[in-house]
Parts: sequence; structure tokens; C-alpha cells
Amino acid sequence: MDLPPDIALIAGTGIEAWPLDQARDFRLATPYGEVLVRLARFAGQDLLVVPRHGPGHSLPPHRVNSRGMIWALKGLGVTKVVASSAVGAIDPGLRPGDLRVVDDLLDFTRQRPLTFFDAPGQVRHVDMTDAYCPRLSALLKQAVGQPVGEGLLIYAATEGPRFETPAEIRALAQLGARVVGMTQAPEVTLAREAGLCYAAVAVVTNPAAGLGGERVEEAAIYAHLAEALGRFQDAFARFLGLLDASPGCERCPPAPEGLFPHLSLDGMDEGDGQR
Ligand SMILES: [Zn+2]
Repeated sequence: MDLPPDIALIAGTGIEAWPLDQARDFRLATPYGEVLVRLARFAGQDLLVVPRHGPGHSLPPHRVNSRGMIWALKGLGVTKVVASSAVGAIDPGLRPGDLRVVDDLLDFTRQRPLTFFDAPGQVRHVDMTDAYCPRLSALLKQAVGQPVGEGLLIYAATEGPRFETPAEIRALAQLGARVVGMTQAPEVTLAREAGLCYAAVAVVTNPAAGLGGERVEEAAIYAHLAEALGRFQDAFARFLGLLDASPGCERCPPAPEGLFPHLSLDGMDEGDGQR
């Protein structure tokens, strides 16, 4: 097998339903458990896709194997990761179906394994000044057609799996969060620990609790995600085109040498990903 591509998509809820060409599913063993990685063709190039919630959307947000996913992608030689995350809108200017690129994170998760630097003697603190890769984020903003001058998009990560209360949403709004979701933490911080360039597209699915005059209903969320999938695919194709013409990133610091062993898809268990 040729070298796997150096770009990957972590496909969140809704976007994981993307019917990819020539997709082959691999189950990779990692120190953190098995990870499903899909090798596919899109817009004339190879692409690795990881369905964040695993085979058949089986993992709830608080059980997503973030360490396994990032460890696998890093080991496979990926350098650039784009992720999608379904979000509720706190900013009343955002509508279901909107795509926005995340600029910064507020992490209110509580009990998730949050670091690769976990062993005694392995003390390391990564810099999160640019929480998201500035280069990939700028290209993604162009690709999704994000209105210029709209302000930073701060994503509040909650533990889930329940949705937030109206009081929590009011508190998050006061802190500057414009969207809320359950999956960006610890994914973005683990990507930084692994020295990956990481950027995320928030897919708006609903007004957050207490803001839309209605309950937060899962059925309505999935309907908006199904609607947004085509727009996400178009934006991702535009992003890949822009990426080819863009110089590399000098802003995301590399990972320590030797921490992430090289992996190969050769000989990996190839099986049905139960899309
Ligand atoms: Zn970068």
C-alpha cells in the first residue's frame, strides 16, 4: 500500500454519514483501544476519515476515544486534521445549518482522559495560545464562506450526553461562547500535544437551550445535519483546493520525538465499519 495521506477528517455527528468513494475501513489497535479509520478518495485525492463516534455511531460523546483517534492519525503520518462538530447556537445570529470555523475553546468537560502526558516523570504543558491551527482555520473560513468581521467563534465544550440547561447557556454566553457542543475537548488539546495542525468546523444544528422557544430535539438536529452535509462536502472540496496552493504552517509546535510510534495500514484488520 502507498503511504497514507497526510490529511484527515474527524467526522462528527451527521458528517460521518458522508458516502465516500472507494472507502476501505481499518480497525487500528492503539494503547487506548481500537479506532476505526477509513481510507477514501475525495476530490481526486486520498483522505483518511475517522468517524468520531465509532462504528455505527456507537460511542456517546463522553466515551469518544479521542486519545486513540489522535494517536492513530499521528502514527499514520497525518499532519493536518480537520474536524466537524455539531453545535447548538448561543449567538442568536447563527442559524441551523450554518457552518462556522472554531477559533477558541472553553472546556467544561469533567471526566475525560485529557492528555498523552500522563505517566509520572512525563510532565509537559502545551501552549494553547493558538488553540486551533491559524493556517488551516484561515483556509477553512474561506472555504465555508464565513462572513468577515463576525468576531471570534468561541466553542464551549460540555460533558453531555444531556443537553445544557438554560442557566448554563446564559452563563456560557456571558463568558463569550457563541456555540456549545460536546466533542471539541479534549480533541483539540490532544492534537496540540501530538503536534498536529488541527482546525474545526462547527455545524449549527439548533438554538441552545432556552433560546429558540422550543425544546432541544434530537430529530430536528439530525434533520439539520442531513441538510448541512452537502454544504460541508462542497466546503471541504474548496478547502483541499486552497490547501494545495498555501504555504505550510509555522505556528503549531511539534510533538516530542519518539512519543508516537509509526503505524501502517498494511496488515491492519480491514473490516466493515457499519456505517
Ligand atoms: Zn498549524
